[in-house]
Formats: sequence, C-alpha cells, structure tokens
Amino acid sequence: MGTSGRPDSTSREFHNPKGEIRSEEISEKNVRWLAVVFDLDDTLFPERQFVDSGMRAVADWGEQVLQIPAETTLDELRGLIEQHADGRTFNRWLANHHLDPEEWVHPMVQVYRKHEPTLTPYDDVSPVLQKLRRTCRLGVVTDGYLEVQQRKMAATGLEDRFDAIVYSDELGRDAWKPSTKPFELVLQRLGVAPDEAVYVGDNPTKDFRGARQLGMETIRIRRPDGLYGHLKTACPEDAPHWQIATLTELVSLMEDTRA
Ligand SMILES: [Mg+2]
Repeated sequence: MGTSGRPDSTSREFHNPKGEIRSEEISEKNVRWLAVVFDLDDTLFPERQFVDSGMRAVADWGEQVLQIPAETTLDELRGLIEQHADGRTFNRWLANHHLDPEEWVHPMVQVYRKHEPTLTPYDDVSPVLQKLRRTCRLGVVTDGYLEVQQRKMAATGLEDRFDAIVYSDELGRDAWKPSTKPFELVLQRLGVAPDEAVYVGDNPTKDFRGARQLGMETIRIRRPDGLYGHLKTACPEDAPHWQIATLTELVSLMEDTRA
C-alpha cells in the first residue's frame, strides 16, 4: 500500500490534460494497476524513425549549405550509424569530407535536434491504449531535451491519449532518469500511489531504477528493432519486474488478477 492508500471508490472524476472533467469507471478488483506509465522512445514508437528523419534533415541542410548532394550524405550517414553508433557520426562524416568539426558539428546537431520528425507509433500502441483506458489512467515519462521530446510526442499523434505527460527535462537535467523526480510528478498528476502504478520502458540502464526506488513496478518491453534491446541488466536495482515483447502482452499482465 502506498502512503495515499488505494481509493475505495469505483467511480472517480479527474482532469485530463485538456482540463475537461471526465467520469471514469475504475473497477480496481479487475486490474493489477490503476495507472500505466510509458516511456516514449522505442516503447511507443521506433527511435530509429527519429534518427532517420533527423539524418534526412541534416542531409538536406548539407546540400544547401555545403553543396553536397543530400542523397549522398544520407547514404553516408546511415552507413556510419550502422558501423559505429557511438554519437560521433557527424564528426566522422565531416572528417571524410575534410571539413572542420569545430565549425560544423554544432550546426549539424542543431538541425538534427530541431527537425520536425516523421514518426509512426508501433502497431500495438493505439489498440492497447484504447483497451487500457477503460480501466486505468495513462501517463508518459520521457527523457531528453525538452523541445526534442515535445516534438517527438506531437509527431506520434498520441498526446491526447494520456492523462499526464512528464518531460523530465522540465524539472532540470538532474531529473532525467534514473532520477525518481519525474516518476513522483507523474504519479501526483495521475493521482495514484507508487504501488498502484507500473512503468513500461525499454532501456535497462535508466528506465527502471528510479521507478523501483519509489515503489512502482516495472516492465521491460523488448521490441525486435529496439536500439537497447541487446542490453543486459547490470544489477538488481536496474532490473524490471516483468519483460514483454509486445504491448498486447501488457494487457494480459493487467488482466492476470481477474477473478
Ligand atoms: Mg526508451
């Protein structure tokens, strides 16, 4: 039991992000958790899509500013990411073109971060959110630069599907996962205690520790194309309570306590 206790009402009112008051029928006997909180990247949409649309934006910029054909740049950047994936893609590309990283890395990073991404959520996201919505509250806790994450969220078209969205960067750099701070805030906004909520994420190096420390349960989703699917859990504090391959399995977990 969390400090706020489990509400005994089967009907409760709360404010959604648009400020409308809705009445939700929540039958707590039928579900394992009263709230499900999701990570964004590689949990709700493939992060590779963002990387790819970012590389396209950089390639277009390169054609305009450096007079290097965009298709050439795009092929080269994709190749470098496949080979290295260590965050030095732009430096390597510039070196290959005998261009000075001191001068050009910064503008390339800016173009990448500020581009309007084209993102499509995983196929299982919309039906699962629709199903969960009938029995519980839905939230997001996402890490990364505020404006970048806001653009990603908007591009997924999923913003209106959640009762609370917390961008950890809003609370400062030290509130990025694995901090407990963004989880405290999302629980407060959702009006549930830690042990009434579960966090679903993909990255064992940062997604589960803070949520666990608060007393939330955690689920690792291992998408086949996820960038962090290969990572091993380093220690028990970073380990998820459950592991799933699709969000559809989350619905089964949710219903496991049904009589
Ligand atoms: Mg993620």
